[in-house]
Amino acid sequence: MKLNTVFVEALRLAAGPGAKLYLGGDELELFGRDETEDLFFAADAAVQPAEREAVARIVRLAWEHGVPVTARGGGTGLSGGALPVRGGIVLGLDLLDRILEIDRDNMIVRVEPGVITQNLQEAVEAAGLFYPPDPASRGSCTMGGNLAENAGGPRAVKYGVTSDWVLGLEVVLADGSIVHTGSACRKDVTGYDMTHLFVGSEGTLGIITEATLRLIPYPSARALLLAAFPGLQEGLDGVLSVFRRVTPSVCEFLESAALEAAARHLGRPVPVPGAGSYVLLEVDGDGEEVVEAEMLSAGEALDRAGATEIVVAQNPRQTEELWALRRAAGEAVKALSTYKEEDCVVPRARIADLVRGVKEIARKHGITTICYGHAGDGNIHVNVLRMDADERSWEVGLPRAVEEIFRLTVSLGGTISGEHGIGYSQRRYLSIRMSQREIELHRTIKAALDPRGILNPGKIFPE
Ligand SMILES: Cc1cc2nc3c(=O)[nH]c(=O)nc-3n(C[C@H](O)[C@H](O)[C@H](O)COP(=O)(O)OP(=O)(O)OC[C@H]3O[C@@H](n4cnc5c(N)ncnc54)[C@H](O)[C@@H]3O)c2cc1C
Repeated sequence: MKLNTVFVEALRLAAGPGAKLYLGGDELELFGRDETEDLFFAADAAVQPAEREAVARIVRLAWEHGVPVTARGGGTGLSGGALPVRGGIVLGLDLLDRILEIDRDNMIVRVEPGVITQNLQEAVEAAGLFYPPDPASRGSCTMGGNLAENAGGPRAVKYGVTSDWVLGLEVVLADGSIVHTGSACRKDVTGYDMTHLFVGSEGTLGIITEATLRLIPYPSARALLLAAFPGLQEGLDGVLSVFRRVTPSVCEFLESAALEAAARHLGRPVPVPGAGSYVLLEVDGDGEEVVEAEMLSAGEALDRAGATEIVVAQNPRQTEELWALRRAAGEAVKALSTYKEEDCVVPRARIADLVRGVKEIARKHGITTICYGHAGDGNIHVNVLRMDADERSWEVGLPRAVEEIFRLTVSLGGTISGEHGIGYSQRRYLSIRMSQREIELHRTIKAALDPRGILNPGKIFPE
């Protein structure tokens, strides 16, 4: 789609003071990529408004001219959600990054969409409060992106995902009108639950311009351990046995290749070399004694499941080192080769069946997989790697293998995305999980809110 000069001038005006507008060159190209594989789609323009009012003006203009608008936060998405697959405008929300209010009495925070998740966490922590959702990308993803993807992260196992913390939203609809959903109240059944319709809608139903989030007191104590197991099965048994005793605040599983890649990536030694799998486990709570007792109980459970060694972080430096390994795993694994990452989630007790089945499918198709992720949630990131497969077997084998992995996931009572969304890269697989009637229902909602189809077109729905 080529934007004419009249439109471009109107866009410049709508963007308002302080905005950045890109119409070509390397800078515009950056808006055509996110963290999803090596995908690229060219935008015709990218605009980053510096004031909230401009979002409604820009969207209204796009609505009047039928120009696609793709919202973008930090561009860390893993399903191609922020890619302008039909061209048009990329609407970058990252300059709208004010924390508007931390209300200690009501224990809520109001934020603009461009606030980086880690900045929000640190700001509320300084006030003794806790916003738990912590995607591993928290240093570069934004609250708008977290809301639009309903992001999870390691702590979701105890504290839930982004949607569990949202009380209300301000949203710019496709025609540029502004609506408010929910409120600052803990309870609100006034009408449909619109807040949770927009959360997880991947920028296809409206642009989130403000969110009211609830907070809790910051847990005063936490402890972290890394347990090494001889094989995959023992590690996954360890995960299940922990939950029979305590609810950890983090329970991550890594097969050895993931931890080894992370260690290499960071230029550090593997903490317990030679294991088949690892579990990173954190407990938190109010008071050292409570946390110590829970840690002991979790450690015993892991030991009985067959852990060969358990390393408990003794100080903040060791804690940070273990966390750094987990956070680096995604990037490190993806640096090994061309890849496709799947975000399978199954009921927790079926993870071993999932991982075993994934390995069988990989063997059958001659491909490599590396699995890691939020095992406490049953959410395993399956990285399918090309490694030295030739182009033809990769291009033919990959979609078949992915389809089989998703069919297996669904047959185990699971679903095809736990936290990364369907976006662009997973939409062809949607019907594995949803019936035609269910997809139609989604289309009806989309058509009601965005009848001209300008908001993030080419996403979620199969062609
Ligand atoms: C190394 C790494 C680790 C990761 N770890 C996790 C993890 O642990 N848990 C997890 O859930 N995800 C994880 N992710 C994925 C990603 O970080 C999340 O999906 C995150 O929520 C995306 O935020 P973003 O600001 O980068 O959004 P973007 O990638 O910019 O956009 C994502 C989607 O949100 C839409 N969007 C953005 N802002 C708005 C808005 N204001 N209004 C409406 N729609 C909007 C976009 O159109 C797009 O569809 C990880 C990614 C990487 C690269």
